Amino acid sequence: MLAGVRATAAEGTTFTVHNPATGEVVAVVAEAGQEDVDRAVAAARRAQDAWALCGPSDRGAVLARLADLIEAEAEALALLETTDNGLPVAETRGMAAGAAAILRYYAGAADKLLGQTMPNDAGGLLLTLREPLGVAALITAWNAPLVLAALKAAPALVAGNAVLIKPSELAPRTTLRFAELAHAAGVPAGCLSVLTGGGAVGAALVRHPDVAKVSFTGSTSTGIAIAREAAATLKRVTLELGGKSAAVVFEDADLERIGEVAPGAAFGMAGQDCCARSRLLVQRSVYDEVLERYVARTNRLIVGDPLDPATDIGPLISAAHRDRVDACVREGVAEGAIVLTGGAPPAHLDGSAGWYAPTVLDGVHPGMRVAREELFGPVVSVLPFTDEDEAVRLANATPYGLSGSIWTRDVGRAVRVSRRIRSGVLAVNSNTSVYLQAPFGGTKLSGLGREYGLAALEENTELKTLFLAGTA
Ligand code: NDP
Repeated sequence: MLAGVRATAAEGTTFTVHNPATGEVVAVVAEAGQEDVDRAVAAARRAQDAWALCGPSDRGAVLARLADLIEAEAEALALLETTDNGLPVAETRGMAAGAAAILRYYAGAADKLLGQTMPNDAGGLLLTLREPLGVAALITAWNAPLVLAALKAAPALVAGNAVLIKPSELAPRTTLRFAELAHAAGVPAGCLSVLTGGGAVGAALVRHPDVAKVSFTGSTSTGIAIAREAAATLKRVTLELGGKSAAVVFEDADLERIGEVAPGAAFGMAGQDCCARSRLLVQRSVYDEVLERYVARTNRLIVGDPLDPATDIGPLISAAHRDRVDACVREGVAEGAIVLTGGAPPAHLDGSAGWYAPTVLDGVHPGMRVAREELFGPVVSVLPFTDEDEAVRLANATPYGLSGSIWTRDVGRAVRVSRRIRSGVLAVNSNTSVYLQAPFGGTKLSGLGREYGLAALEENTELKTLFLAGTA
């Protein structure tokens, strides 16, 4: 899509998009090739200079208008996303509202990109300017395409960059609509284009010498491949990758509340959430009580039609992905894990789509795949611990370091443990560690760089140092 207008691919190729709940084809979309990528990058380069020279409040006003347009269409966008990726409409409605909130936040940040002045002995003015990078390629995953498009495009655009968005081929339609609305809101032609297609389109953007930055959300293996490729042209790279986050429950925590809310952090988005608390670490003295409450709440979650507002868990993105999740659960069981609930597709739902019952595994050891690897499905591994040291050791015992929750009423313990867990974000007595005002990103194999907050603005700018002599 160029300049807000849907275009056919130069080679005329297309691909189909399927509704994960029904299998029906919901769209036939242009599959971009190298020529399309080259054309979109050239258009972005041509348009970016003028956009960067607009006043910051003009750029902010465009984003604010886009937020209004998204809000006005929120219900339609939510339904489009649900039929693309299978997330329940109760979740995609929240995401449409979230996308508008992100745009509004960065609209207000347009004139808050600050430089510094530095004392110097040369008698002049020494200062820093924040300048746009140029053209940014934004490559997103299927689990939250609308939010990811807004999250990556808003700070890039408001800082004066042009953007090219490559959504996942599995769920591209809300990104295409986002681009149409962006154009209607006043983003100039060329400053925001969408290139649909598979990983090869993303790879072509990463290789392109005129792309200055890549912002990627997706799997760790693809993120590493992108970092390697981007090194050849020294592109800036922001990588938001996988996670295997833990909810750590101490004996002094509010166990009733944990039983009620903690499963939401594991099974929201059917576990297809980079921040999912897919491990539950529980102090031995309260292990049985926490498990009993957690499983009882899990059993009340409604798995079913994602278009039904009462549904908590829709199908996974595909039956093939569901089969991978199921194979990992079976492997865990063969190694000694015990299924407390779930562990199979629900009997009342069509097995040809990717439904999987929310699953709680006991008897898990830290070395098992279900304890270390991201399954990206509705599966929680529960492990006991004795004291703070063991809790921290288990929390850190994965290659990832993205998110997590600590449940305790002891403030000293909350401070000590949160400082020792290696992760980009954490929450104490809460499921939520992502706030649009605060930096978000991973450590270890969970990523590089930060999104959200003013940190995202900095990641979309180059720091220039300027000296003005005191003599003419
Ligand atoms: P992938 O890494 O498979 O794909 C992500 C995007 O990259 C897609 O648009 C994909 O295209 C594209 N892509 C694939 N190969 C390449 C390549 N060689 N060069 C450039 N682009 C490429 O991830 P998934 O879509 O399967 O998403 C799931 C993963 O995303 C999980 O691991 C999850 O943890 C992570 N994630 C991380 C988040 C975070 O903020 N940390 C948030 C959400 C998800 P296509 O799909 O069309 O093949």
